[in-house]
This record gives sequence, structure tokens and C-alpha cells, in this order.
Amino acid sequence: MDESKSLKNVVAMDGTQYNATVVSKVLISPDHMMIKIDPDEARNEFEAGQHTQLGLYGFEKRSSSSEPETIPAEEDKLIKRLYSIVSEKNDTRQFEFYITQVKSGQLTSRLFNLNSGDRLYIGTSITGSFRLDETPDGTDIVMVATGTGIAPYISFLRSHIVERPESKMVVIHGGSNHWDLGYFGELLNLQKNYPNFFYVPTLIDPVDHWDGYTFCIEDLLKNDVLQNQFNISPDPERTRFYVSGKPEMVSRVSEWLYDFGYTKHKQSDPGEMYVEEF
Ligand SMILES: Cc1cc2nc3c(=O)[nH]c(=O)nc-3n(C[C@H](O)[C@H](O)[C@H](O)COP(=O)(O)OP(=O)(O)OC[C@H]3O[C@@H](n4cnc5c(N)ncnc54)[C@H](O)[C@@H]3O)c2cc1C
Repeated sequence: MDESKSLKNVVAMDGTQYNATVVSKVLISPDHMMIKIDPDEARNEFEAGQHTQLGLYGFEKRSSSSEPETIPAEEDKLIKRLYSIVSEKNDTRQFEFYITQVKSGQLTSRLFNLNSGDRLYIGTSITGSFRLDETPDGTDIVMVATGTGIAPYISFLRSHIVERPESKMVVIHGGSNHWDLGYFGELLNLQKNYPNFFYVPTLIDPVDHWDGYTFCIEDLLKNDVLQNQFNISPDPERTRFYVSGKPEMVSRVSEWLYDFGYTKHKQSDPGEMYVEEF
């Protein structure tokens, strides 16, 4: 493979910057999908938890369930947004994403109209400091998410769970209803197979029968579920926290963690709490 070529944005024969093809799309609800995309050329290696851009032009058709755009897209402009990669870190030839449709949004309303075989743009670089690899071995790891905020954790677990038998790893995933719990089956399966992994889904407004928690994430944490159920303490020396999803949840959980002495991780200033808002 000629790497120098694969890392540049190129204009294709059809005049677009499209450089990838949809391989599969699974709707787990009308507004939640798992989509797999093959770039024309493999990407460079990345770290679990990182993100890249997806893009479509404004002239592409929007989904039938979309609503008028908040800001109408320009026809000839490539609309690009960031998405966390769900795939295992060595998978540089095919990328999986977990995406929610913002009905009035520019890009997601067009992504939801795609089908297998359709073309789109995928970023040529993969970046981000929301990563597990810098967390010391043996440290307990708590991953908190709402909605599609689960995406980077699936990549963490697919890539690293085998390497960290000494760490307790907990995923707390919050949503309104069962369709907000993407990767439910995969996470339950991990819990069955790895004695150090624990999955804690919580639904605040379930329409169907639900035996699990019905607290919002902040209340779950304040009720000491980590200490009582898993003997994990919110101690910056022993436990790393990852928090990803809706800005309101991220901010409330961060506030709770500051009281235990946590500091936000930045590339220039390492901390024990990693945060990704979207
Ligand atoms: C690092 C990073 C990783 C991300 N990873 C993911 C991911 O894995 N999956 C995923 O689905 N999204 C992810 N996002 C969000 C994504 O980049 C887009 O912002 C989102 O898909 C909306 O794009 P859009 O063009 O459809 O909406 P836009 O046209 O950008 O927004 C339209 C309107 O909707 C509002 N809006 C935007 N997003 C939301 C939202 N989520 N809920 C409610 N209102 C909203 C905007 O404020 C605006 O008013 C990530 C964002 C970042 C920064």
C-alpha cells in the first residue's frame, strides 16, 4: 500500500471526495444505527477510543424520518462530523460506528439514508486522547456513558479486555429506553466470559418490562453502587473514570468526581478522569 496516497484527501472520478463504501447498516431503532464502512485504502493504526470524520455532500438525500434542518446545508459542501470508532484497534480496513440520528441535523439525516454499497467520505486521520492505553495496569476502570457515548468503550473492550485481567472494568450505560442500550448483547456476553468485567445498564423511562436500574447515572453513582456492588472506590490513585455522552451528564458526573480529587485528563496535563462530550 502506498501510505502517502492513503493519507491525503483525493478527488474521485465523480468529482467528490468520497473514499469509502458502506458495507452494512443495522438499524436498532429508527434513530440508532450501527454502520460498517470500508475505506478504499486501509488507515494507519489507531488507539481504541479514538475518532475520525465521516462526511456526505449537501446534495445527498435526507432520511424520510428527518425534520427540516436547523441550518440548511449547502449543496456542494462536504458536511463532516466526528464519530468515535467502535472497532477493535487493529481493524484498519473496516470501521464500525454507532450513530444517533439528529432529525434536524445536517449529516446524520443523510447518513441514515445510506444503504450498503453507497459511497461516503471517511477521514484520513484518526485522532483523540480518549484512550485506555495510558491507564496503568492493575488500575480499576469505570466507563460511564449515555447513548452513543458507549462507542469508544466497545473499542476499549474489544481491544484490551484480554490484556487486563488484574483490573476490574465496569460499564455504566444510561438511556431512556431499551433501544438506547446499543451493544447490550455484546456487553452481557463479556460479563459472562470475563470475571473482572461488570455491565450496569440503567433506564430512566422504560416502556417495556425492565428488571435493571432505573436511576439516572449520577444518582446511581451517588448511591454508592460501585462501592457496594463491586468494591470499587472513586479514588484517583486506584480507579480511572471515563465519561462519555450528553454534556449535562458529563458535567454532573465530573462535578461528583472533582469532590474525590479527580482532575480532567488532557494530553498536556494528565489526569485520572477522561471526558468526551457529544
Ligand atoms: C469526539 C466526538 C465523537 C463523537 N462520536 C459520536 C458517535 O460515536 N456517535 C454519534 O452519534 N455522534 C457522535 N458525535 C457527534 C457528531 O459529531 C455530530 O455532532 C452529531 O452526529 C450531529 O451531527 P449532525 O450534522 O446531524 O447535526 P448538526 O447539523 O451538527 O446539528 C443540528 C442541530 O442539532 C443539535 N445537535 C447536535 N447533536 C445533537 C445531539 N446529539 N442531540 C441533540 N441535538 C443535537 C445542534 O446543536 C444543532 O442545533 C461525536 C462528537 C465528537 C465531538
